Amino acid sequence: MRMLIIGPPGSGKGTQAARISDRLGLVAISTGDIFRDNVRRETPLGVEAKKYMDAGDFVPDSVTNSMVRDRLAADDVREGFLLDGYPRTAAQVTELDDILRENALTLDVVLQLTADDDELVQRLLNRAVQDGRSDDNEKVIRHRLGLYHDQTEAVVSQYDERRIVTKVDGIGPIDEVTERVMAALKVTS
Ligand code: AMP
Repeated sequence: MRMLIIGPPGSGKGTQAARISDRLGLVAISTGDIFRDNVRRETPLGVEAKKYMDAGDFVPDSVTNSMVRDRLAADDVREGFLLDGYPRTAAQVTELDDILRENALTLDVVLQLTADDDELVQRLLNRAVQDGRSDDNEKVIRHRLGLYHDQTEAVVSQYDERRIVTKVDGIGPIDEVTERVMAALKVTS
């Protein structure tokens, strides 16, 4: 299975992605995690990405696209993958389409986690206190949500036209959301 998980910041997509990848045995690829790992190791990619991440901006498409292209060339994704946090812009959709076409692959499902903005802001402010994430103050959070509405919802619309989007309500206890996700993916436990 090749799938995407898309959701606004704070929707719990990272948590649900980890659970889906465990249950389905899919390699999970999170662009946010790859960037954070590079920031931690102070690689050139990390130094470049940090400027954008701290401001709540998207890392430029050229940088993100080539990173994903490299990652999808690895052997471990041959049998399937779960992409978490990519694509987020129209240009990234085009790039992913190109990568998949070059490898004669198609996407099976795009899972969208939904939640309203007020709930998301509250969750992210709580997470900021717990994890000390530098991209989690209220101004940056609102900016990231704005980018999601302006650019990433248009990405979901593109996949909607292809009839491969499944929407799941991301509000509620984590286990319940996981069960909703599994039901939506028609996975029986
Ligand atoms: P996430 O953990 O998915 O919320 O990603 C954290 C941050 O990494 C985002 O706010 C962006 O700055 C950057 N990032 C992650 N994925 C992408 C992407 N597909 N395109 C551009 N920037 C990204």
